[in-house]
Amino acid sequence: SRNKRREICRSDIDRLNAPFLAIYESLIPAEEEKAKQKQLLTSLEKLVNKEWPDAQLYLYGSCANSFGFSNSDIDVCLSIDDTDITKSEILLKLADILQSDNLQNVQALPRARVPIVKLMDPVTGISCDICINNVLAVVNTKLLRDYAQIDSRLRQLAFIVKHWAKSRGVNETYQGTLSSYAYVLMCIHFLQQRKPAILPCLQEMEVTYAVTIDDTECAYFDKVDALCDFGAQNKERISQLIWAFFDYWAYRHDYASSVISVRTGSVISKQAKDWTRRIGNDRHLICIEDPFETSHDLGRVVDKHSIKILRGEFERAANIMQYDPDPCFKLFERY
Ligand code: ATP
Ligand code: MG
Repeated sequence: SRNKRREICRSDIDRLNAPFLAIYESLIPAEEEKAKQKQLLTSLEKLVNKEWPDAQLYLYGSCANSFGFSNSDIDVCLSIDDTDITKSEILLKLADILQSDNLQNVQALPRARVPIVKLMDPVTGISCDICINNVLAVVNTKLLRDYAQIDSRLRQLAFIVKHWAKSRGVNETYQGTLSSYAYVLMCIHFLQQRKPAILPCLQEMEVTYAVTIDDTECAYFDKVDALCDFGAQNKERISQLIWAFFDYWAYRHDYASSVISVRTGSVISKQAKDWTRRIGNDRHLICIEDPFETSHDLGRVVDKHSIKILRGEFERAANIMQYDPDPCFKLFERY
């Protein structure tokens, strides 16, 4: 049968390692770029501290989780304790402060799902979104970065998957497909499940890092230097992992009853989470549990139309990886 045949990966899969690694290398940001981001953060911090001496700025998202491509925008979180004024007042005040400096296109979006101030820095050419007190995002950024340190294959796989998703138009949450954050979690989960495992489950290990944010306890083992040999027993290389990743999401994942969970390092049941029926706009057609906000399904954005598109793309990718003579080209073809 088709599935029997699929258990065997194409015979020339190793030949694809070098070209996939070359694509990965071409997407990595240069060191100068990191320096520019730090420079911008420092100058923003100076401005902000004039108004709020105790406030702090943190980088989060792809510029800090080690899954960022070159030339991407940066995400910044302003952490501030001021309880006298509301979030949107802080946001408008912040926009004022930034406007009076020589920053460009400063725009406050107080009504967005995550309220932000947008700006462009003409000195570095970097665009930036600043949100207020979104500390959970700063912590999940650290979790992703810590996982990336354990085994280099995670960063390679996630870069290829993100590049594929962006090329194929399935990295658009406002169109019902998945965020980059969701794709990285899918990659971490996938590498936790390989036999032998390539990644551990940090949240099931001894706690060396713990913070509580609005009643959400975030605790895990973050001494990842001690884990640099963790995946050494597993000799799979990137091309084979890409093949297996798409094969999993195309033909093996049980969409009807399973939830992937980085928190537990396993697949759990929709039943256990009470994610079996539609509640409001949450349809749970593909279930990806947030590692900290465990009631949060990152697949909630996916609707009955976009699930077809998404699964169609997983199948297309799996078939290309299995049969196409030139997958490195075909996989990323613009849709
Ligand atoms: P890209 O390279 O596409 O910009 P990104 O890593 O910045 O990727 P986004 O999906 O834009 O990813 O998300 C930015 C950050 O916001 C994530 O790293 C995560 O910390 C946080 N985040 C995004 N979506 C969610 C969500 N649904 N729940 C919790 N945190 C989220
Ligand atoms: Mg981003």
